[in-house]
Amino acid sequence: MPLTDDQLAEIEAARATPQPTLRAVAPGMEQHLYKAVPVLDHGFVRVIDYMGDDAAIVQAARVSYGAGTKKTRDDSGLIRYLMRHWHSTPFEMCEIKLHVKLPVFVARQWIRHRTANVNEYSARYSILDREFYIPEPDALAAQSTVNNQGRGEVLQGEEAARVLEILKSDAGRAYNNYEAMLSQDGQQGLARELARMNLPANIYTQWYWKVDLHNLFHFLRLRADEHAQYEIRVYAQAIADMVKDWVPAAYGAFEDYRMGGVALSAKGVEVLKRRLAGEDVTQENSGMSKGEWREFVEVFG
Ligand SMILES: Cc1cc2nc3c(=O)[nH]c(=O)nc-3n(C[C@H](O)[C@H](O)[C@H](O)COP(=O)(O)OP(=O)(O)OC[C@H]3O[C@@H](n4cnc5c(N)ncnc54)[C@H](O)[C@@H]3O)c2cc1C
Repeated sequence: MPLTDDQLAEIEAARATPQPTLRAVAPGMEQHLYKAVPVLDHGFVRVIDYMGDDAAIVQAARVSYGAGTKKTRDDSGLIRYLMRHWHSTPFEMCEIKLHVKLPVFVARQWIRHRTANVNEYSARYSILDREFYIPEPDALAAQSTVNNQGRGEVLQGEEAARVLEILKSDAGRAYNNYEAMLSQDGQQGLARELARMNLPANIYTQWYWKVDLHNLFHFLRLRADEHAQYEIRVYAQAIADMVKDWVPAAYGAFEDYRMGGVALSAKGVEVLKRRLAGEDVTQENSGMSKGEWREFVEVFG
């Protein structure tokens, strides 16, 4: 179960006692507040708090552009303009605080995003639960033959069973030894801060993660992308679904310009112009490397 009974009771209690407020409230986000969205086999992500909405982005932007912008551009048009021109600071006026439960190897990737505030469960202070990420059969894949940093075909039959058995038995044995080392039953027992060191990277940890919308979009751009590892991508997708309800105009602009858009190099622009003029451009006469050309053709055919 991703949440304990105590945590569920806490969420119910918090949702049962709404407070009147003069602060900006985003109705789309209120429906998500505190509720946990299950991710992977034991993980979850839930919104603990948020600040701001689409209007807060517009309000901050109008400090720089003045009330005159109201006449020329509506709010979502202004948000699209800001996104298009990388005017990012108005997006920093919105913040979100999440409670995330995730495997340690996913946390290793996530923590690389330095522009957030993090407070993690202490395995020096507390004993970790016996909860390990064991992939679903369709997420158990072989090494990719074309991408060193990716996975290929899904394992089948005996091979899938062999790998699953290793994952499960290693996790079980490591946790049994963890408990045995901690035990003070007729022995001195090892400190929690040391006993944890033999636990595998698929054990779950938890943290509070607070980030502003600009840096959250950067995180989502990298981690909700199809090239990101599946196990972090599913968290990013769960968060993206909440953000879509929280700041629909900003998310729409982000989807259009960042997730759906592509960055073109000067060489890429030149090749497109030559193609539009009817020229048959090849990799050899494009000035691009093989890798650049492959990525260009993937987008533009
Ligand atoms: C598909 C993929 C593969 C990856 N592979 C690897 C890998 O093999 N090895 C590896 O080590 N990492 C890898 N990473 C991690 C990657 O290099 C980044 O560390 C991670 O994506 C965080 O990005 P960021 O630094 O832009 O984010 P943040 O830390 O959130 O920073 C956001 C932005 O703030 C600015 N910034 C933040 N801190 C500084 C600073 N100290 N100095 C200057 N500017 C700063 C930068 O503009 C940065 O882009 C991978 C990431 C992805 C998405």
